[in-house]
Amino acid sequence: MADQTYCLYTFGCQMNEHDSEVIAGLVEAAGYCRVEDPDQAGLVVINTCCVRGSAEQKIFGLLGRLARPGGRRLIAVGGCMAQREGMAAFLRRRFPAVRLIFGTHALPRLPELLAKAVAGEVVVAVEEGAGRPEGLPVHRTGGVRAWVPVIYGCNNFCTYCAVPLVRGRERSRPPEAVVREVADLARQGYREVTLLGQNVNSYGRDLGRDTNLASLLEELNRCEGILRLRFLTSHPRDLDDGLIEAVADLDKVCEHFHLPAQSGSDRILRLMHRGYTREWYLERVRAIRKCMPGATVTTDLIVGFPGETDQDFADTLSLVEEAAFDGAFTFVYNTRPGTPAASIDDQVPPEVKKERITALVEATGRVALARNQAVVGKVVEVLVEARAPSFFGRTRGNRPVRLDGPGLAVGELRAVRIVRAGPQILEGEALK
Ligand code: SAM
Ligand code: SF4
Repeated sequence: MADQTYCLYTFGCQMNEHDSEVIAGLVEAAGYCRVEDPDQAGLVVINTCCVRGSAEQKIFGLLGRLARPGGRRLIAVGGCMAQREGMAAFLRRRFPAVRLIFGTHALPRLPELLAKAVAGEVVVAVEEGAGRPEGLPVHRTGGVRAWVPVIYGCNNFCTYCAVPLVRGRERSRPPEAVVREVADLARQGYREVTLLGQNVNSYGRDLGRDTNLASLLEELNRCEGILRLRFLTSHPRDLDDGLIEAVADLDKVCEHFHLPAQSGSDRILRLMHRGYTREWYLERVRAIRKCMPGATVTTDLIVGFPGETDQDFADTLSLVEEAAFDGAFTFVYNTRPGTPAASIDDQVPPEVKKERITALVEATGRVALARNQAVVGKVVEVLVEARAPSFFGRTRGNRPVRLDGPGLAVGELRAVRIVRAGPQILEGEALK
């Protein structure tokens, strides 16, 4: 085991995946080399998620295996779960071998915190912070695709969600900083950029200047070398016509909206504090598809929110049909300490949640398959992303495609005829 080696685990969403790229950048700038085997690593960093209890249980299981008392390896736990109130003290009690705990706000200070832990101190840094400085080193792992956060935090306080508790209020990056980073990515050979935010379409609101996501996309659309732009995650309440028109007008911005609905029942949406109705949501989907008939819409859905009745759940199932989602992430509601929904007594029994999630997975899979099958026989634009073992890419609508064909090269856009479709992936032949 060499002391200057590190191993990194990541749990959670795309924002966490990107934070891990920053953690890797910072740790490598401090002189560490990455290894995949934790037994070969002098330092193990676990970047955590607290959106669901199941993620936390997995992290505890991993710590049980890795953080053995008396071990020489330095174990660091960072990110959302580490930031959660009371968690640092819990981790210190249950896993005394964890010697460095850093929350989401302390991430930029990782080199200094790491140096203290290496010198033998037990370090806990879970303060509320002022924000993320520009120019931190990033070790990217996305091939020709790069993730660029444009807004940190969330102001929405959906009643089930722990994110605002651990990521703080919304803080947008200045547009000039984003434009500089994207231009630099283009020079390094990246071809697709995804702008990230928990609620990306409130980008710019806190800056007090005349900038929003649509104007940022317009500026980035001029960046030479970048072939495609995407953005995640849109909040249905904040999806205005200006953004929909910008996506339609700007040639590099892909026609895909990840638009979490969470529920199809107005009563549950109110209890969730989502700020829109089912009809508002469906009207937004219609507006997207009217403007861009080929656009894809994907979503997040939760079953078993406290008090969810059979009728509420039936409303979610019918929303899946009406909105004709191209894909969905489905979640079983999970009580998160400190959130308003945690104090609602009327929990849905586990067996009912299980039945509902099974029915929802079936419905979303069936609808997505039908949407994918409608693409068979069509010629679509694919960005070739990888060759492992066969060529792989994505359509503008973010549909994954396994590819075959003459002269394929990673990083190029190709016209591809779709020949087969499953619920998750398409197969296609690249044209000459
Ligand atoms: N900011 C995004 C949004 O507003 O939709 C996504 C945030 S969260 C990291 C991703 C998804 O996790 C949410 O859309 C929601 O469906 C799910 N989620 C969040 N809290 C949950 C909870 N307590 N139980 C089950 N699913 C949850
Ligand atoms: Fe959580 Fe709601 Fe914010 Fe998304 S918008 S991060 S679900 S509070």
